[in-house]
Amino acid sequence: MQKNNRVSRWRQTARRLGEEHARLLALFLVADPVLRGTVYELRRRCGKPRCACASDGPPHSSWVLSWSERGRTRLRVVPAGSLVEWRLWTSRYQKLRKARARLVTLHTELLTILDALEQGRRREP
Ligand SMILES: [Zn+2]
Repeated sequence: MQKNNRVSRWRQTARRLGEEHARLLALFLVADPVLRGTVYELRRRCGKPRCACASDGPPHSSWVLSWSERGRTRLRVVPAGSLVEWRLWTSRYQKLRKARARLVTLHTELLTILDALEQGRRREP
C-alpha cells in the first residue's frame, strides 16, 4: 500500500475510534440509576413436606437480584413492584461495564494509530 493511502486509513480509523469513544463516554455522563448484579427468576421447592410443591405442584417462584460481594454471591428478593425498574437498572449497569471494557481496548488501538501518525510526521533535526 502507498504511504499516503496508509496514512489516510490511519486517520480515518482514528476519527472513527474518537467517535466511538464519544458515544461510550456519553453513557457515563448521565445520572440514570444503575444496579450492580443480575435479576432472574428463582424456582425452588420450600422443603415443607405438606406443601403442594412437594408433590405435583409447581415450585415456588420469586424474582431475585444476584450480585457478588467480596467473592461471595448475594441474593435479594426483588421488592413487589420493582421488577421492571430493577431489570432496567441492572441492564444499564451491564451496559456500562461492557462500555468500560471496550474503552480499555479502544484506548490501546487509538494510541497505536496516533503513535504511527506521529512517526510519519517526524522530521530529523
Ligand atoms: Zn413449597
